Amino acid sequence: MKKIPVGVLGATGMVGQRFLSLLIDHPYFEVTVVAASERSAGKTLAEAGRWMIGGEMPSQFAKMTVQPVDQVGDVGLVFSALPSDAAGPTEIAWAKSGALVFSNAGAHRRDPLVPLLVPEVNPDHVNLLELQRQQYGWSGGILTNPNCTTTHAVLPMRALHDAFGLTKVLLVSMQAISGAGYPGVPSLDIIDNVVPLIKGEEEKVEWEPRKLLGTLGAQGVEEAQITISAHCNRVAVIDGHTECLSLAFERPPADEAELIAVLREFKAEPQALNLPSAPAHPILVTELADGPQPRRDRDAERGMATTVGRVRRCPILDYKLVLLGHNTLRGAAGGSLLNAELMVAKGLIKA
Ligand code: NAP
Repeated sequence: MKKIPVGVLGATGMVGQRFLSLLIDHPYFEVTVVAASERSAGKTLAEAGRWMIGGEMPSQFAKMTVQPVDQVGDVGLVFSALPSDAAGPTEIAWAKSGALVFSNAGAHRRDPLVPLLVPEVNPDHVNLLELQRQQYGWSGGILTNPNCTTTHAVLPMRALHDAFGLTKVLLVSMQAISGAGYPGVPSLDIIDNVVPLIKGEEEKVEWEPRKLLGTLGAQGVEEAQITISAHCNRVAVIDGHTECLSLAFERPPADEAELIAVLREFKAEPQALNLPSAPAHPILVTELADGPQPRRDRDAERGMATTVGRVRRCPILDYKLVLLGHNTLRGAAGGSLLNAELMVAKGLIKA
């Protein structure tokens, strides 16, 4: 197929660089615009900053000139890796100009007309875009992916909610430093330490799964009635968020084996459509007694899977488990890219 030209907003940042690396030789998309703040605009990407995700900056990007993010209109599809305050007005300007914006930022996730999308969880929510366009009068649109901690939790939550009816979730996260972007958490705050506050994170993790697991009707999304309590902590890991979950169900599984079988068998639309970035198995269950762990498991399925382990009974709720996923791949750029691939496969984006 003829490749679709795309822009990356925030191309000099941690998530922006993940986008660039995932878009090298992508079968559907080709990066023609890179944009960032006034600090970087007018420089080449190589001049604007270092390549933070391993190896050297790919040569096809190094010489590209960074545009200001408000120079809208050169492409019909943009991936946004902007901080939330900049993303708010910038993404609206792009949507008004006719572009489809696939956003990683929190700015528009709570907008009832903006799809919050994980293709294995709620692929039908892309249809909300039609209502968004009608009500806002935009020729483009905004679609978001959830916060990185939510993304990895909601995959097993989808599988378990369908099988057993989730009612309550207690979630404790140990989140990687790269989740704070670059330069992120000062080294003197995080080495030899745990920081039990990530501003705004717990509120996102307690609410976003309710929209993701909700039902799309004519007026929008009716949230799923699941009560979630989250404790979010920053730990001295570079990439990979670890999350400990206790879960209560309407119809609890008979034993651990029944719960594990549901997770192992879980597949959804991205796997059926064989989307380029889709993991063959969105949820992996590790056999290792001390798993999952960030260094060992974060790159499973090219960083696009959630690995679950330590499934056991919970004396307060019904069962508990540990999960882990890559925060800047599936939790950010990879998740957004999968959303765009889903729309191409459904014929909602054309070359
Ligand atoms: P980052 O490393 O700080 O990168 C921010 C990017 O935005 C840079 O390209 C920066 O350009 C640009 N930028 C900053 N202020 C701007 C402004 N006022 N106007 C225009 N451009 C501006 O952050 P990140 O970790 O990549 O995160 C990007 C977004 O993804 C955030 O909304 C974050 O919450 C979300 N997210 C991050 C993760 C993660 O694991 N890191 C996961 C999920 C979602 P300059 O280099 O020119 O300053």
